[in-house]
Amino acid sequence: MTQQATASIIDSPNPSRWYVEAMEHLVSVVQELSLARDIDSVAAIVRKAARELTSADGATFVLREGDQCYYADENAVSPLWKGQHFPMNACISGWVMTHGEPVVIEDIYADERIPAEAYRSTFVKSLAMVPIRRASPIGAIGNYWASTHRPAPEVIHVLQALADTTSVAMENIRLYGELTRKVQTLEESNYELNRFAWVASHDLQEPLRTIVTQVQLLEQRYGDKLDIRGKNYINRATQGASRLQQLIGDLLVHAQLQKVKNFRPLALENVLENVLNDLNTLIKNSGATIHSETLPWVWGDPVLLERLLQNLLTNAIKFQKQELPPRVQITAAQDDKHWRIGVADNGIGIESTYLERIFGLFQRLHSQDMYPGSGIGLATCKKVVELHEGRIWAESVPGEGSTFYFILPSPEGVDKYTHH
Ligand code: ADP
Repeated sequence: MTQQATASIIDSPNPSRWYVEAMEHLVSVVQELSLARDIDSVAAIVRKAARELTSADGATFVLREGDQCYYADENAVSPLWKGQHFPMNACISGWVMTHGEPVVIEDIYADERIPAEAYRSTFVKSLAMVPIRRASPIGAIGNYWASTHRPAPEVIHVLQALADTTSVAMENIRLYGELTRKVQTLEESNYELNRFAWVASHDLQEPLRTIVTQVQLLEQRYGDKLDIRGKNYINRATQGASRLQQLIGDLLVHAQLQKVKNFRPLALENVLENVLNDLNTLIKNSGATIHSETLPWVWGDPVLLERLLQNLLTNAIKFQKQELPPRVQITAAQDDKHWRIGVADNGIGIESTYLERIFGLFQRLHSQDMYPGSGIGLATCKKVVELHEGRIWAESVPGEGSTFYFILPSPEGVDKYTHH
């Protein structure tokens, strides 16, 4: 809506038409404000909209800063007070913010709340001002006219609606800023934790290797001199050490995931083939059968995805019922720009209360004797899928089997210039 149009509508004998058009204008301002991410953008939108909506000769955007009013921005036929501070008790915006209500002043020189000196160098004869956030004002929007003018109540109503929207936009910016800071802190601490896990597991490997070689030497040199009990001690030490090696190895892999990233379009079918080759012995020994639909092309990192499929297949084979050979079915379904892959087994299943918890680091539901493991595999799967901006979850019927689903981007669904 142009200023002339607004002016003619206000003056027209049909104010309700003006009101409808002003509301339409307000709706587009609301949309603009909802996209604003900083206070300068809000100020720019508001100073323009305030002036256009009321067809004033000038508009200001004032912020409360402690006991000062800060004239943050303006849009006017000639300069007003942009960039200046005034005490709250010595200017009209201070009055509006203190009282939380609008003012309309037809003759500014006849109103004692107005510091006339501050206005003498300006064009202002009349003004209207509304608070931003009525309950506890954080600012104000001022409108100014060069000739004596008394805006209609509808105009003040629209201006107040603009101020209310502005307060929501400012609150959003505050929350957005807080969220950004929190995400940053989280990312930093995540990075630190990751580094710690990597350094710790890396440094633990060295002394562990020494322990393993020393125990091996002990067995080689003195094995024949030891009785059953002595040999048992050595066996247990060797088992403990190799479990620790496995655990540290898994943890290292987990901590290193972020560094691997090499994203590109790839055939998941080839990734599966490599994994099946690696698991050949396990598959044979367990008598497992693995069926798979033809797997699609996805956008991903081959090393990470191998790790993901390997963990899921190993689990599907490992968590089996005694009497049944493992049967694993891999499926693929397309959904918009993503693929949903499913790995279903006929194993022991998982109680529904644990379906989310199992993706946490070191979360295991069974003793080492029943099903050995480190409790890191699914946490690694989750991290891999999240690095692909996907999602992983499990569904299960206890005693009958589990299906692990994960979502990966299809190559067409990825903007190659912004993704990783
Ligand atoms: P790990 O296999 O080393 O124990 P994971 O992180 O891979 O660790 O899995 C965590 C836990 O989730 C397992 O200990 C097991 O209790 C449960 N789990 C994972 N996969 C399956 C499955 N296919 N069937 C039943 N339980 C499973």
